[in-house]
Amino acid sequence: MTNILTIDLEDWHQLIRRRVSGNLSPASAAVARQVDALLELLERHRTQATFFTLGMLAEAYPNVVKRIAAQGHEIASHGYAHLPTHRLSRQEFTDDCKRAKALLEDLTGQPVRGYRAAEFSVRSRTLWVLEVLAELGFLYDSSIFPIRHRRYGIPGFAPRVVQYALRGGKQLFEIPLATVSLGPATIPVAGGGYFRLMPVWLIRQAMGKLHADQQPIVAYFHPYEFDSRPLDVFEDWQPSSWAHRLRGVRFNWHQNLGRGTMPGKLADLLLRHRFTSCLAFLQGAHQIERRALFSEAG
Ligand SMILES: [Zn+2]
Repeated sequence: MTNILTIDLEDWHQLIRRRVSGNLSPASAAVARQVDALLELLERHRTQATFFTLGMLAEAYPNVVKRIAAQGHEIASHGYAHLPTHRLSRQEFTDDCKRAKALLEDLTGQPVRGYRAAEFSVRSRTLWVLEVLAELGFLYDSSIFPIRHRRYGIPGFAPRVVQYALRGGKQLFEIPLATVSLGPATIPVAGGGYFRLMPVWLIRQAMGKLHADQQPIVAYFHPYEFDSRPLDVFEDWQPSSWAHRLRGVRFNWHQNLGRGTMPGKLADLLLRHRFTSCLAFLQGAHQIERRALFSEAG
């Protein structure tokens, strides 16, 4: 079975600094070395991925994006400013989305077909996002976790790739992130915190479970997970208060937990399973279920 590999391309330092202080600082150069490490790993395993690229990062580091595209990976959109959709009006979301799409298309000379929302923030009350994406000419979205979670997810949403018929006659594919039921909990397994902390044998078991259910592994990673240096929010940055310093120390601590295991774990996945980009997956799929979105959303 062919699986889907996605990378959210953003600068960890810039986004964590904003979460700590509330202020936007320039993107850090660390992202270039992180991307190089990741590209080297993907090349070694002859694997193509989709890079959901943040517009403001592409603006700061256009050559990083060009390098990724030149290696044959798909450049898709992660929006411009990394703001969760529930904090934006429909118009603000549309503007953010358009800006990032135009910028990425200018950079690569290729149409941008896919979108992933900041913090996977397409939820029941922001499903209108899918309509906007279809109106702007996107082919697919990959932002939904079919689970109940404090910050994201739509419990009960179809956990497989579906082409949704939207209001107004438009259509959009949704590629939900992989989740697996382990005991009483349904959790995201193919990326993020659980993936960082789970041992390889448990990850292998979870991936086997997905395939037994005829589900592709829809995996997600970030360049910062492949940095050879420990992540340090204070690299090139001085917080203005003790409260910010303490919050920064907390991020440094929990974001480095298990992080050193990520390159080995991704390499193990790539050795065992065949992965490709979202676009190549959709182009190669024989039959994808179609249904109306609003029967899904209830
Ligand atoms: Zn992100």
